[in-house]
Amino acid sequence: MSPESVLDNPAVENTPFDADEFDRVVMKTYGRFAIALERGRGCRVWDSDGKEYLDFVAGIATCTLGHAHPAMVEAVNRQIQKLHHVSNLYYIREQGELAKWLVDRSCADRAFFCNSGAEANEGAIKLSRKYAHTVLNIDEPVILTANASFHGRTLATITATGQPKYQKNFNPLVPGFHYVPYNDFEAIAAAIAQLDGGEKRRVAAILLEPLQGEGGVRPGDRAYFQKVRQLCDEKGILLILDEVQVGMGRSGQLWGYEHLGIEPDIFTSAKGLGGGIPIGALLCKSSCDVFEPGDHASTFGGNPFACGVALAVCETLERENLVENARERGEQLRVGLQAIADRYPQLFVEVRGWGLIDGIEIAAESEVTSIEIVKAAIVEGLLLVPAGPKVVRFVPPAIVTEAEIDRALEMLDRAISTRVS
Ligand SMILES: *Cc1c(COP(=O)(O)O)cnc(C)c1O
Repeated sequence: MSPESVLDNPAVENTPFDADEFDRVVMKTYGRFAIALERGRGCRVWDSDGKEYLDFVAGIATCTLGHAHPAMVEAVNRQIQKLHHVSNLYYIREQGELAKWLVDRSCADRAFFCNSGAEANEGAIKLSRKYAHTVLNIDEPVILTANASFHGRTLATITATGQPKYQKNFNPLVPGFHYVPYNDFEAIAAAIAQLDGGEKRRVAAILLEPLQGEGGVRPGDRAYFQKVRQLCDEKGILLILDEVQVGMGRSGQLWGYEHLGIEPDIFTSAKGLGGGIPIGALLCKSSCDVFEPGDHASTFGGNPFACGVALAVCETLERENLVENARERGEQLRVGLQAIADRYPQLFVEVRGWGLIDGIEIAAESEVTSIEIVKAAIVEGLLLVPAGPKVVRFVPPAIVTEAEIDRALEMLDRAISTRVS
């Protein structure tokens, strides 16, 4: 069915949704808002009652091309009819093409494909540990990560994540991680010195987000990252950047590290890479590619379907100048958010972000939470997502238009004036 016919088909409209039945059979791992989204087109989605929303969540920074983009529909149809899954026992044309697209446009030389952000970070952790053992000769390599970071929900990645709320009740955690404050060079330099036990135990890698997404939309400080890069070079430490949320053009640059004026040794991608088709990637410079056959694998990773669709997303990003669009629409969004923040000075303290990954922070003294604002926006027909209890996050598709940004700002203003303040 073409996107037109899906939208026009009454069978997919206004189908009653039974949330109680859902909750009876699905584990309650998520706090859900009480709507079920049934169809989407561009930056708009419709729920089971037929109510329309402007989607500034995009599957949490994932639907790069919005919903039902013709290039994705075409790629999905083409790939499912041609070949969707084989195995990494064989060469996969689409995997090589996607890897080439990524390495041609980044500081990396090679890619490994998996299915999610957490898995990509697991791969980065394994790669840096093998590098530590085989190149640096460290018995017990330590990886430094930042407070308020987010790296995923597997055991190693909740351990890497510097937020106790994600680790609670899941111990014993994975050994070999140590946390430092973000954007604080003195602290990271001190931790590296303090943990220096020679060949027995020392810091082998630093894993950071160029901009902390889940932790409250906190951009990395350019001077900080440049000093960290220099220190890594001096000490032979690997710098790993988690580009899962900020990468793939969302920041107004293809990669978040371009804002920082540095290059990582290893970086990871996922969310926006497949435009909503599950795919993750671990990318690295050839100098730290110590993986050999048998070291790492994934059954689904890099299959023709995911790679063929992701390649179409990448090519569309370029053809439609969406990185530039993310930059310009992001600027417009932040100007509008700042105007709203200025109108409610008791409620908001700061607007920040890069491109189309932006946040508005609620004053600590205010009783209002980010969830309350998100709920009020849903009533107005605008989908937003919290980034912690006091930050509301804006991560619309990269195809978002000037008029849609204006409409979102109007809806947010109305939500706040009628339901929050
Ligand atoms: C979402 C996210 C992850 C985890 O990705 P999953 O696909 O949910 O495993 C890791 N790192 C960052 C920065 C993220 O935003």
